[in-house]
Amino acid sequence: MSLSTQSLPATPQGFARAAEILRGGGLVAFATETVYGLGGDATNDLAVARIFEAKGRPRFNPLIVHVSDLAMAERFALFDTRARQIAAQFWPGPLTLVLPLRKDAGLSPLVTSDLETVAIRLPAHPGAMALLQAFGGPLAAPSANISGRISPTRAEHVMSGLSGRIAAVLEGGACAVGLESTILGLADGAPQLLRPGGVPAETLEALLGPLTIGGDANKPSAPGQLASHYAPSAALRLNAEGPRPGEVMIGFGPVPGDLTLSAHGDLVEAAAQLFHLLRRADDLAGPKGAIAIAALPETGLGRAINDRLRRAAAPRG
Ligand code: AMP
Ligand code: MG
Repeated sequence: MSLSTQSLPATPQGFARAAEILRGGGLVAFATETVYGLGGDATNDLAVARIFEAKGRPRFNPLIVHVSDLAMAERFALFDTRARQIAAQFWPGPLTLVLPLRKDAGLSPLVTSDLETVAIRLPAHPGAMALLQAFGGPLAAPSANISGRISPTRAEHVMSGLSGRIAAVLEGGACAVGLESTILGLADGAPQLLRPGGVPAETLEALLGPLTIGGDANKPSAPGQLASHYAPSAALRLNAEGPRPGEVMIGFGPVPGDLTLSAHGDLVEAAAQLFHLLRRADDLAGPKGAIAIAALPETGLGRAINDRLRRAAAPRG
């Protein structure tokens, strides 16, 4: 899809227009103190699918949820005393906390990659704050660049990568930190440094004691790191042309099913539906049942969907 990407000024009118685009499920890049983020409504499955599409990400790795205040953060994540203390000290600022996801959070499962944890932060940038306040809800926002390219620290960097692929860029000047946020895992047990970034590890260690160096949620280095990753309990058969006896069929495009990822073969819709349909099919199939799923093209969002399906279909121990 080719859009004509608007450049919006950091004025009340610009923020209001950006918030309107976000409410309609569109994407707006905005400055934070770390790098420019590619924002979409974190509660809207289609908007979040569009983030992966615009960036050309080959995987559904989880995204950071940006909020305007601690009260909004507490709608999505469970804070204990330690987490509240850390938030009080470092927010707003370049520190992302990974915390248990609330059951009633209402975020799109694509944001958390269907994990039981959520990464959340409150950015320290007047433009990001004004946008979050105008929008009034949570924004999923990875860096506003094509996957694999350098993170953008100026509006023109965003334009050169994503022009035509997103609805708007909010002008926000140059990013002060220029580094990604530090990611601190507080979801279970000892605090983990999941990614170094704008807040030095030493500063956190002075408060929390030695930090375990944690892996990437997508490339688990320790057993169990992906344990809470949702995989259907039913067996999953890929590239199916139709169901075998007893299978729940998930269709795509011309291949029909009991459920369909997208009847007209739209990959954004398929990505938006993916985790919801896997759960529905799993319920329909029952614990000893089986699910068959139609083939999806290995292009655009199809790559990320197929990556997720291959991992869900892999034998589990
Ligand atoms: P980016 O959006 O490109 O800044 O990357 C976000 C980073 O946060 C990635 O490295 C993710 O793996 C990490 N992340 C997001 N959510 C979680 C989570 N629930 N658990 C662990 N890491 C996460
Ligand atoms: Mg990035």
